[in-house]
This record gives sequence, C-alpha cells and structure tokens, in this order.
Amino acid sequence: MACAHFRFYGAVNYFLPAARRNVDFTHLFDWRASIKDMVESLGVPHPEIEQLVVNGVPVSFAYLVQPDDKIEVYACTETEANVDAPPLRPPLDGKPTFILDTHLGRLAAYLRMMGFDTLYRNDYDDEELARVAHNEGRVLLTRDIGLLKRGLVIHGYFVRDTNPRRQIVELLRRYELLPFVVPFERCMTCNGLLETVAKDAIIDRLPAHTAQYYEVFHRCRSCDQIFWRGAHHQRMQELINEVMDIK
Ligand SMILES: [Zn+2]
Repeated sequence: MACAHFRFYGAVNYFLPAARRNVDFTHLFDWRASIKDMVESLGVPHPEIEQLVVNGVPVSFAYLVQPDDKIEVYACTETEANVDAPPLRPPLDGKPTFILDTHLGRLAAYLRMMGFDTLYRNDYDDEELARVAHNEGRVLLTRDIGLLKRGLVIHGYFVRDTNPRRQIVELLRRYELLPFVVPFERCMTCNGLLETVAKDAIIDRLPAHTAQYYEVFHRCRSCDQIFWRGAHHQRMQELINEVMDIK
C-alpha cells in the first residue's frame, strides 16, 4: 500500500470531512490513479479545482499519482494558487453563459432577469446537462456533486446555498458577474431576448392598472410575453443592492 500527502486550499475544503479541512493528511492507495480520479474519490469534483501542485510543480488532471507525492489542491477562488502555471481548463471568456440542473429553477429565472444566457428545463437528465455544458462552453450549476464529477464537464460549480436569493448573490460573487448585469435583456420564462415594444401595439394585452401606470414595455422575441418595470424590476434592484452591500 502506497501513500500520498494531501493539503486542500480554499473553497474545495467544503467537500472534505471536517477533520481533513485545511490540514495536511495522508491518503493510502494501492492502485494507479490519475490525480483527478484520486481527488474526486476524496470528495472534490474536478470543476471546483483551479490548480494541482505535486512536489512543488503544477500538474494536469492526467498526472498519475506516485508513492509519497506531496499534493496541493487549490480552489478556483483561491488567490494563493500559482498564477503563472498553465491552467487546468480554458478560461471563461467574457460574459459567462450557464446551464442549470433541474432543481435550480428559481436561480435560473434570477440569472435571466439579470441578462445572463441561462438554459434551464425541469426534465434535463445528467447526461444531457453535461453534454450541453461541454458543447456550448456553458458553466454547469448544480447541487449534485456526482454530476460535476462527469468527465465531460469543464466549467461547473456546486451551488452551496439552498435559498434562491442567496444563491444569486453567491453566483454574482463567484463569477464576478456584477459588471455583466443587464436588466431587461432576457425573458425570465424562456431565456429569449427582449425588445422594446410600443405601448400602443400591446395595450389590448395589458391589465387595466398596468396600462394606466406604465409607459415602457418589453416583449420576448421567443415566447411573446410582455414585461414592464413593475414588480420584476423592483425585485431585481433589491437583489443587486444586496450584492453591493456584501461586497
Ligand atoms: Zn420568453
């Protein structure tokens, strides 16, 4: 039986038992395994990892663990990681796009409300989620650790909170999304793009009090739903304020 010595840094400690968080520990193994498989067997899904360092040298996910290796695992949000090392995956370029697991419907609506291209259906299966995320370069968001361990997933994140309002704050911070927030760009229901529409053109579709109090309207190009700056806008502004407050 061989052993390797591990230390995890930053947010990846979330996935470890309490006794292994932020401390050196030894892991026994008796088979040849890639560092990716070994780290995932310890609990940490690979998309949460920013950098792997073995005996002081950055390595890729394919590195085969050797007896007595000293292994450091850094989280994507960990500033101690060596920024000069080759990245484990291609970087996200510009404004990220997302695909969300079936249990994150409210979070999907919030992301769309803030203008992020967000795929969501309540009947996606795991294979389809991983494949679409891979093929379209989307960030896969889920609370299913097993799904994040799938090899096809490149960019992915385990959403820690269970409350949708706190989840959107968590996402805005994790991916530094605030500069990309564009209200009233996307439909909360279907992810379609919105366009401004003249009040005269849709006035027969408005509730009487809405027609009386609002002048600016948007229409979804995909599902034809009408939006105005009422409750939606106020709720979004509250969320943005919440994020600004905690930064
Ligand atoms: Zn729509």
